[in-house]
Amino acid sequence: MKAHDGMYIGGSWRPAAGTDVIEVLNPATEEPIGQVPAGTAEDVDAAVRAARAAFDDWAATAPADRAAKLTALRDRLVARKDEIAETVTAELGAPPAFAQAVHAGLPAIVAGSFAELAASHDFEQRIANSVVHLEPVGVVGAITPWNYPLHQVVAKVAPALAAGCTVVLKPAEDTPLVAQLFAECVDEAGLPAGVFNLVTGHGPVVGRAIAEHDGVDMVSFTGSTAVGSEIGALAGAAVKRVSLELGGKSANVVLPSADLAKAVNIGVANVMGNSGQTCTAWTRMLVHTDRYDEAVALAEAAIAKYVPGERIGPLVSARQRDRVRGYIEKGVEEGARLVAGGPDAPLERGYYVRPTLFADVAPGMTIEQEEIFGPVLAMIRYADEDEALAIANGTAYGLSGAVWGEEAEATAFARRMRTGMVDINGGTFNPLAPFGGYKKSGVGRELGVHGLGEFLEAKSLQY
Ligand code: NAD
Repeated sequence: MKAHDGMYIGGSWRPAAGTDVIEVLNPATEEPIGQVPAGTAEDVDAAVRAARAAFDDWAATAPADRAAKLTALRDRLVARKDEIAETVTAELGAPPAFAQAVHAGLPAIVAGSFAELAASHDFEQRIANSVVHLEPVGVVGAITPWNYPLHQVVAKVAPALAAGCTVVLKPAEDTPLVAQLFAECVDEAGLPAGVFNLVTGHGPVVGRAIAEHDGVDMVSFTGSTAVGSEIGALAGAAVKRVSLELGGKSANVVLPSADLAKAVNIGVANVMGNSGQTCTAWTRMLVHTDRYDEAVALAEAAIAKYVPGERIGPLVSARQRDRVRGYIEKGVEEGARLVAGGPDAPLERGYYVRPTLFADVAPGMTIEQEEIFGPVLAMIRYADEDEALAIANGTAYGLSGAVWGEEAEATAFARRMRTGMVDINGGTFNPLAPFGGYKKSGVGRELGVHGLGEFLEAKSLQY
């Protein structure tokens, strides 16, 4: 893997202020594949200065010109999709087909969607005797995780640039190589110097320096609820805008009228995708007691197809693997029934975890309440709809979910769920629909017109 030994600041690769590095490992082989600089507050300061210096001109650029630059960026992401997919396979461990379709494919779609929105959005609206101008919020600090490493970058950077903001990005420590590749694409697309800046490094150093910097007007964060809450507190104290995309523990509710085999098969696939490292994963499957045993048998058969090293990749790091194994042990200790998988390693090398199915999971168990972020599905039985709803809504999170059953009935149930997104009978992911959560799953929305709005201030002029 090609890795830069500097930071992308002010339109060029510059030496980092310090000499520390982050070693990037391939989680399937445990071998090093490259290293990037571990930045410092000094690097962040240089990047914020570059972003501030670029802000006035970029904010004043006509939306159609910003759209043209975003289209050029989209084209670079498309042109380099094979390298992107290979890089994500190498540093995250995603199987090649999934890396191509999702990790490389989705960011290009999202970049294209914000090019179109930049061109078509009404940045000037009339309300009675006022004209409301929607203006960029300023310099955005973006802090992203490793699980969809390019998508999460593009879901922040593309709307920020479409709005007329400039950006300082800190990608996750485990997956900085695809972020460097993204910076190359930005450069090739001809974005003005300083509009996008990249500082690699550790969260508590670089991430914190971004969140605390006076020159940053908004922090857009995706990651764990624990870190999101710290960033929210810092931003609140400084009266900065903040958007937080955090964890989830989403419910997949199979109503008695559902097509059971379809609901269970798609439900299992949803959890196993990306080795369970998806914040929106439907990690709790709720099935009516009359069809519960049949559903467990179907899930057991479905999960057997996820062979580690073939259809399912490793977890991103030894730390994540150990954390997930710890949860599997906890599930057994607390009395859930282990139907498939378990805590032992499936392969000699690589950070693999066995695809794991727990049945007879009771509401309130640790594996029912906490985000595991691995290939672990908890099956829960319910007696009636009210009980199913109480279980579905019974965690601190509210990010996503699914309901299966007769459409009107499923829709009515979905409307009662305290969660940001619900797929009805397998409705597919919509990159233009608002993405984000209720409760401890976050603050704000990404993607589409709602995502663009996060990066805009409203100024009203009265006549
Ligand atoms: P994390 O919170 O540890 O890290 C996320 C990012 O924050 C990384 O870039 C990290 O370096 C940085 N960071 C860590 N400590 C920091 C600090 N003190 N100050 C500033 N920045 C800091 O999370 P992770 O382990 O990278 O990702 C997994 C978690 O992210 C899961 O809980 C998952 O649900 C959540 N997630 C949520 C979404 C969403 O859209 N809702 C998407 C992906 C992941």
